[in-house]
Amino acid sequence: MLSAAVPANTAETALQARGLTKTYRMGAVEVAALRGVDLDLFSGELLVLLGPSGSGKSTLLNILGGLDTPTAGTVRFRDLDLTSGGERLLTRYRRQHVGFVFQFYNLIPSLTARENVALVTEIAAHPIRPEEALGLVGLGARLDHFPAQLSGGEQQRVAIARAIAKRPDLLLCDEPTGALDRETGILVLEAILRINVELGTTTALITHNAVIADIAHRVIHFADGRIRDIRTNAARKPPAELVW
Ligand code: ADP
Repeated sequence: MLSAAVPANTAETALQARGLTKTYRMGAVEVAALRGVDLDLFSGELLVLLGPSGSGKSTLLNILGGLDTPTAGTVRFRDLDLTSGGERLLTRYRRQHVGFVFQFYNLIPSLTARENVALVTEIAAHPIRPEEALGLVGLGARLDHFPAQLSGGEQQRVAIARAIAKRPDLLLCDEPTGALDRETGILVLEAILRINVELGTTTALITHNAVIADIAHRVIHFADGRIRDIRTNAARKPPAELVW
């Protein structure tokens, strides 16, 4: 059983979103991807976002991570207003504070696991050594393997090591286990959880797999561009106990 209590430092808000809307315009057609989202991410928490495809989860995550901007509303990271600072501020925010993990790993095929991670650590201010980052995700014995020599789950763990090697405050994961079977998916979730616990990285994870919500401190249900429900997990499960 994992500790259900949100970590002690969660009184602190890591990220605050207010009144977020996002409308995509394609010619004469408008798609309302977000219709007014208020959300606080607490420092050190693990948040899972559930909801049907097309309900706005990725749009929200991309805005929280500074990859996209809202049509209206504000996002604050500490004392930074991300929505009024322009592209330079967003670039600095992403570089210094945010790690991303996507469904597909986007590793460079001609570089080893260590070299893929080193690409990030070379430009970070206070990086974790690539060997240590890969050790944290259970790949300390695979440093010199190329992506093609690794399983899908191992490649995703290299991608996680790459995302956290710069010691980001936020780790944003969009369907990190979407392309994996249960066994390898669980190893990936264990890696994400270990980063959350050992580095205190505030983590938000999108999944279509409702079972995975049991590892979270809090679970958000999304529907039609809005938060329909936020609940705190009274009892959390370790990834190995998840069945799907
Ligand atoms: P989810 O992550 O829940 O599947 P998304 O945030 O990807 O949902 O999408 C929300 C809505 O916004 C969908 O209707 C989707 O088609 C639309 N959408 C997302 N990205 C774009 C885009 N770049 N251009 C136009 N429409 C988009």
